[in-house]
Amino acid sequence: MRLIETIEELKQWVSENKATGAGIGLVPTMGFLHEGHMKLVETAKRENDVVLMSIFVNPAQFGPNEDFERYPRDMERDQELAQTAGADAIFAPSAGEIYPRESAIVISAGRLADQLCGKSRPGHFDGVLKVVTKLFHLSEADRAYFGQKDAQQLAIIESLVEDFNFPLEIRRVETVREPDGLAKSSRNIYLTGQERAEAPHLKKALEMGKQLAIGGMDPIPAMTDYLGENCSGTIDYIQLLSYPDLTENVTGEAILALAVQFEKARLIDNLLFTIKGN
Ligand code: AMP
Repeated sequence: MRLIETIEELKQWVSENKATGAGIGLVPTMGFLHEGHMKLVETAKRENDVVLMSIFVNPAQFGPNEDFERYPRDMERDQELAQTAGADAIFAPSAGEIYPRESAIVISAGRLADQLCGKSRPGHFDGVLKVVTKLFHLSEADRAYFGQKDAQQLAIIESLVEDFNFPLEIRRVETVREPDGLAKSSRNIYLTGQERAEAPHLKKALEMGKQLAIGGMDPIPAMTDYLGENCSGTIDYIQLLSYPDLTENVTGEAILALAVQFEKARLIDNLLFTIKGN
């Protein structure tokens, strides 16, 4: 497996692969890999000749009071895990390599960022779009892989690709969970022992809410009560929206999503399902 740190070297790797007609799968990550990231790579490996994983803690998607500095990093371990999962190359650039100057052009997620995490993390999705636009162009990927765990991010990236005719396909990968239901996340290491014991209640609240929503009822009050009784964290939001267009007209494909702020970790989770009309 190749470790690539510069754009120059990445262009070389891409052109070598394109010359042989290889299909390229891209898996963008911020590293500190877990089984969720591994599943993205494994899925990409099945559908492409070669897989490029990017590992870049993207400063553009962190707010001033967020955890950019203390975001967990372990490049050595990540290299081993990426190789085991089947990655052919890792692209791990410095921030200066990706952002050599202040860009004049701003890419905005627009109304899709008005809901869910976008409300409490202003500018976050614009930062995500900034980096994925660069990664899509630099990698010349045929397909890029994103987890449903970050469902709003996935919806926004699908919209970017559709609205601006990016020549690649976005592939959705289901959320990988711990045996007790907690969605795998690099940020789970911030949880205290007590918070880790409470965290599976997020998925339980979602399951309960899903049944209510499918039955035509408002799931939010019951979920709010349940989490209030079982979690010490503060609810940031619980929302039921259409998916992937994120409107309040929820007949058809829907997302039930929540975010809970614990002492050091803000956890998000969601379920996607169908609500039948009358
Ligand atoms: P991150 O490194 O957290 O930015 O995540 C990189 C990619 O992995 C994103 O597309 C995430 O949605 C995806 N991902 C993160 N956690 C999971 C999970 N538990 N299951 C599936 N995909 C995940």
